[in-house]
Amino acid sequence: MEEKNKNIIEKALAILNRRQEKPKTGIALADVLALFPGAKVYPPSIEDLTKPKSCQHCAGNKHARIVKRTWANGKRDWMCHRCGRSILIAQ
Ligand SMILES: [Zn+2]
Repeated sequence: MEEKNKNIIEKALAILNRRQEKPKTGIALADVLALFPGAKVYPPSIEDLTKPKSCQHCAGNKHARIVKRTWANGKRDWMCHRCGRSILIAQ
């Protein structure tokens, strides 16, 4: 493995070790890098971080997906694909 890649992995692991939080779902980035050394890791996008998790009206329904819609005037927001309601994001 190249020295540059080792440095990047060591820096990423050092940053992760400073954080004490483990992800609630999925696997930790440190585990991914341990299993796949040299893997390319991309940070989540702003859209991924701000996407609402579920619809309050349809909570628990497997068909209730949250999707982004674009209005005719160009406004974009999140909606429930099942009931069509807007999903308000708490600011
Ligand atoms: Zn809904």
